[in-house]
Amino acid sequence: MQQMMNGAVLARYNFFEWRQVPVPRINDSEVLIKVGYAGICGSDQHIFTGEFHPRTKTPMIPGHEFAGTIVETGKKVKIYKPGDRVVVDPIIPCGTCAACELKHYPACTTLKLLGVDMNGGFAEYVAADERMLYKIGPEISDRHAALVEVLSIGFHAINRAGLKQGDTVAIFGSGRIGHCIAQAARTKTDNTIFMVDILDNRLDIARNAYDNIVTINSREIDPVDFIRDQTNGRGVDIAFEAVGHAHPVENRVHPVRGCIKSIRGAGLVCTLGLSDDPAPLNMKEFIWKEAKIIASRVSHGEFAETIRHMSAGYLKPDTLISAEYFAGRAQEAFEVLEKEPQNHLKILLKLS
Ligand SMILES: [Zn+2]
Ligand SMILES: [Zn+2]
Repeated sequence: MQQMMNGAVLARYNFFEWRQVPVPRINDSEVLIKVGYAGICGSDQHIFTGEFHPRTKTPMIPGHEFAGTIVETGKKVKIYKPGDRVVVDPIIPCGTCAACELKHYPACTTLKLLGVDMNGGFAEYVAADERMLYKIGPEISDRHAALVEVLSIGFHAINRAGLKQGDTVAIFGSGRIGHCIAQAARTKTDNTIFMVDILDNRLDIARNAYDNIVTINSREIDPVDFIRDQTNGRGVDIAFEAVGHAHPVENRVHPVRGCIKSIRGAGLVCTLGLSDDPAPLNMKEFIWKEAKIIASRVSHGEFAETIRHMSAGYLKPDTLISAEYFAGRAQEAFEVLEKEPQNHLKILLKLS
């Protein structure tokens, strides 16, 4: 007989229904996970409103940031057993495109994600291939483990940028991703991290949570002038763009150009903010510095690094959590995020 479970089903766009659905059946290389907590990501909000159509279609169960406990394993699963607590790296590369041939999976042209391109973790149970799993120890709660995916995006960004001890850093955008970069960067360098945003509440969170952070509200102060001033005209070693749009704040340059202007000669800009708008650059500012611009998308096996730092207590997962809802109230959680995005970093859904 088909076993049933509860799940937050996106029945149609902008409408979640908490209802009974079949428990996923696992194949030989998969495990069945009882989900503890799941995080709501910006991508989930795009799925919710239908912006990902036709990549996503309703009805579906989103959720690609989650943690839980294995309850069943497929016949060929060797390493894991029921009772193991795990997080799931949701990335499913095609394996055959040019990027995949180079094992550069985040750049896979048809990259799929568990919870985006197939049902995910906003349900009591989810199936995942054993290759996607990372074990977590008892010192990490499911609540914190649900944040390993998003924090790994921060670790991937600092790895892409080659960030090292002693580097000074500027982070444009103090949203979820900006905070994850700050937490990852803090594990590598003790030097100043400048965080730029237009929302004081987000900057306050950063200033209270991390050591040696200088916050800049770019509505009040020109971040480029301020950073140059604070670094004696030198500029920072690395600037991260995590704003996610290319509009300039009034009387300021747009974020990517602000990053270029904030770095030292031969410095590096790492961009993460996804925007459909073109971001005009002044190539002279860029070329005179012989600067590098690189991009960072999702993560690439940084889960192990994130878990190690979380186990050691070097990360501040609670800083990212602004609210927690029982998953049966997913509709309410998503409406809150739509209505007042400025008041939230990460909202967690509790599944069990
Ligand atoms: Zn995400
Ligand atoms: Zn590929």
